[in-house]
Amino acid sequence: MTNDDERAASRRDWRTRIVQPDVAAPGGFMSLAPAVHRGSTVVFQRLADAKDDWRGDRYTYGLYGTPTVLELAARIADLEGAHHSFVVPGGQAAIVLVYLAFCTAGSHALVPESAYSPNRELADGLLKGLGITVETYSPTLGSDIAGLIRPETRLVWCESPGSVTMEVQDVPAIVAATHRCGVPVALDNTYAAGVLFDAFAAGVDVSLQALTKYVGGHSDLLLGTVSVREAAYERVGAMHRLLGLAVSPDDCALALRGLETLAVRLDALERSTLTVAEWLKGRPEISVVLHPAFADCPGHALWRRDFTGSASVFSVVFAEDWDAKRIGRFVDALRLFRIGYSWGGTTSLVMAYLGAGSASRSHGDRLVRLNVGLEAVGDLIADLEQALTR
Ligand SMILES: *Cc1c(COP(=O)(O)O)cnc(C)c1O
Repeated sequence: MTNDDERAASRRDWRTRIVQPDVAAPGGFMSLAPAVHRGSTVVFQRLADAKDDWRGDRYTYGLYGTPTVLELAARIADLEGAHHSFVVPGGQAAIVLVYLAFCTAGSHALVPESAYSPNRELADGLLKGLGITVETYSPTLGSDIAGLIRPETRLVWCESPGSVTMEVQDVPAIVAATHRCGVPVALDNTYAAGVLFDAFAAGVDVSLQALTKYVGGHSDLLLGTVSVREAAYERVGAMHRLLGLAVSPDDCALALRGLETLAVRLDALERSTLTVAEWLKGRPEISVVLHPAFADCPGHALWRRDFTGSASVFSVVFAEDWDAKRIGRFVDALRLFRIGYSWGGTTSLVMAYLGAGSASRSHGDRLVRLNVGLEAVGDLIADLEQALTR
């Protein structure tokens, strides 16, 4: 009998071999592209090795990340200067994780009035039912935040610039005042893509971003990260596991690809956005351009002090003689700026926000948010011009 015959004779049934094969592709494939590792179950060599542990130093279950997920986590943590980053299904999941990691029944938390609105909706809905009180504060408060901190305060949020109304916060001052009371600070650093503002240098304990926006960069995935200092690692990691916040390795591979072009996209987006914003500032139809690089934006001096660049999203407030109906006609007349939520992709977007702002700084029904994409900037300006003058 030849060796081949011997092997054939000892072969297991084909029904076994389709599940547990005797063959494998050669190893050592030195690709530049990250491998997509899928998997729920992780097998152990010996029973004594089997355990369920979410910590990333060894693999025990797919929920805590396959090598593709942990590669993305490690790269984001490295960019942000974090001890560790937890990858979650989206920016909103990141917000929920942070609340539940730090707050329990009886806790009080502070969130800026200008925060991403589903953050505030979460406060009025789910968190209220769990006995967690969330109070809003003026985003331009600075170190006066100390006056709002109670004995039961467990978390202070920052988001800078604020979603839609774009107030830049004095994050270092808020952190210093909050830490004096022994309370941690979490920052939603989505605008800065985790790179235009150094959250950990500013002292925050937790920094999150919706990778959905700039890291993904192509409007084709939803992911988020919660990046932590060492002191917050156990608390956030344990809650991440309990909430079962699994992510798709395929989406993580797309995010890893997006990451490679983040610098060139951010540079191009910043330039085009400043050109569009500058042009709008010169228009009689627009009363204010809320872009952090412009003096009219609340907190502009803080942006100059703390940020290394600006991003692609900003808002305009129309002149007094514009009402919701007229703004609706303007938005509907746009052809290249597509009507849609989210931002940070290659396509220019527009959205009107009725009743945006706070009681003290209301923009009525005259605020429109724009996200500038990677189209030719001359065409974008021509699109705005035809819609304004129709
Ligand atoms: C988009 C966004 C989120 C939510 O991200 P998703 O991935 O869409 O859930 C959170 N915070 C800010 C500031 C955002 O812009």
